[in-house]
Amino acid sequence: MKIICVGRNYKGHILELKNNTPKELVFFLKPETAIPLKNQPFFIPDFSQEIHHEIELVVKINKTGKHIQEKFAKHYYSELTLGIDFTARDVQERLKKNGLPWEKAKSFDGSAPIGKFIDKTQIQNIDNINFQLLVNKTPMQIGNTKDMIFKIDFIISFISQFITLKKGDLIFTGTPEGVSKIHKGDFLEGFIENKKIIELKVK
Ligand code: MG
Repeated sequence: MKIICVGRNYKGHILELKNNTPKELVFFLKPETAIPLKNQPFFIPDFSQEIHHEIELVVKINKTGKHIQEKFAKHYYSELTLGIDFTARDVQERLKKNGLPWEKAKSFDGSAPIGKFIDKTQIQNIDNINFQLLVNKTPMQIGNTKDMIFKIDFIISFISQFITLKKGDLIFTGTPEGVSKIHKGDFLEGFIENKKIIELKVK
């Protein structure tokens, strides 16, 4: 199983980090060990002073596919959830400055908690889903998949040109604006529409 994450997919988030809008979809990988054991809190790693939350819609691949055409991409996933792409922003800034890969900042143990899955049939339009992240009951990130630069079916098609997708693979589809530093004791809750999908304590 692998975790593939899309970067820079919402204008507001690109602007808040002063990045350039990509002409081509940007993606990176996290290992299976990025998913914490069930009901584990998120432990702030000691190599970073600035861990950010990035709430993202996550799709689960349901069969093997390579060179998937965009028009057929919808047949390759049937469940979705929310995940948090935890990012060591201070480490990432150093790596970016030196043109180095992001893994140390993005792919560490526990950096990709996911919530409970919901069936795609429960969603009217996958390209118009409201989702949000509350930190200590305050909404910090409010997003809608309609604001994605690259939509879900395109993402699946694009990634599958490079990497074979397999059943159980997860795709994080990018974060809207509002990322911020987390602190010990924070309580994070993610919602799709008004349904709670994920909750997590920070330790
Ligand atoms: Mg992200």
